[in-house]
Amino acid sequence: MNIIEHEPLARHTSWRIGGAARYYVEVTDAAHVQAALGWAAERELPVFVMGNGTNLLVRDGGFDGLVIRFVGREWSITPAPDGVTATLHLAAGAPMAGTARRVSAQGWGGLVWAEGLPGSLGGAVYGNAGCYGGDIAGVLTQAWLLVEDRVAVWANEQLDFRYRSSVLKRWPVPPSRPLVLAADLRLHHADAELLRAELAEIAAARKSKTPWGSSCGSVFKNPPPVIGADGTATAYSAGQLIERGGIKGTRIGGAEISQVHGNYIVNVDHATAADVLALIGLAQRTIRAEFGIDLELEVQVVGE
Ligand SMILES: Cc1cc2nc3c(=O)[nH]c(=O)nc-3n(C[C@H](O)[C@H](O)[C@H](O)COP(=O)(O)OP(=O)(O)OC[C@H]3O[C@@H](n4cnc5c(N)ncnc54)[C@H](O)[C@@H]3O)c2cc1C
Repeated sequence: MNIIEHEPLARHTSWRIGGAARYYVEVTDAAHVQAALGWAAERELPVFVMGNGTNLLVRDGGFDGLVIRFVGREWSITPAPDGVTATLHLAAGAPMAGTARRVSAQGWGGLVWAEGLPGSLGGAVYGNAGCYGGDIAGVLTQAWLLVEDRVAVWANEQLDFRYRSSVLKRWPVPPSRPLVLAADLRLHHADAELLRAELAEIAAARKSKTPWGSSCGSVFKNPPPVIGADGTATAYSAGQLIERGGIKGTRIGGAEISQVHGNYIVNVDHATAADVLALIGLAQRTIRAEFGIDLELEVQVVGE
């Protein structure tokens, strides 16, 4: 195991923000993860597991323990005897968007929705990542997990996927949370040219909506619809509420609530986690005061 000391986590997060991990190791398979967990247990160190760091805010004080990052990217496609469907076996560290492009180029459909989705398979399973009409819950058949110290295979239903959530995200005792090692995703045969056109359409749509610069995507979850006195439901996205609250473009230190998309906070100039947390607090206070709605974080805050 190549354990690195004082590794800046800003290097491994899409926000390019965050203090250092006291210890940091990259792992590829179950044996590797078990060795890393054993190493941390011997030293009684807390552990944090990450994928591509696209949904994390690491505090400026870093993480005083072992950060384990999944980097295994193996993938293989096994066509079913019917010739129409196939199973994609994917390691936890595999990138979702790159994988969507690779399988599509081979004439397998089922993952086009993930074009441009940052992050790894492990992070996508943990938070049931989704966009453009699809999500992990809709394609995953089974997943290989490290549960306590054993590898187990769980069917889709056992992961109990919900909106941007799985049983892993809701796990009651975080240190014993199962870790995703790999998963099988369902594919179907499709015309590679049509898939290419769909990918291009989604890429263009994403580009038009995504603010330029380092971010973690959506900071807040979209709140549930508000039920009016007459019983009608009105749904506002977190971005719309922030826009109506008049705080788009607000800047604290090097971080800014995007002018383009209210639910993005962009690192415009060497932002710190403290800058981002101050903007998060401002947005939550403003939306509570103006609309009586509590904005819940989608991004996970880690560290000291
Ligand atoms: C520009 C931008 C656009 C985005 N657009 C979308 C979008 O359209 N839809 C969407 O859903 N998300 C979106 N995101 C958010 C993010 O890409 C997803 O949440 C992604 O699935 C996170 O994956 P990750 O590998 O980066 O996870 P990380 O950020 O590294 O980790 C997130 C959580 O997953 C856990 N985790 C990671 N790997 C494992 C594992 N192997 N086993 C167990 N737990 C694990 C971590 O402990 C952590 O709690 C966007 C982000 C950015 C930056």
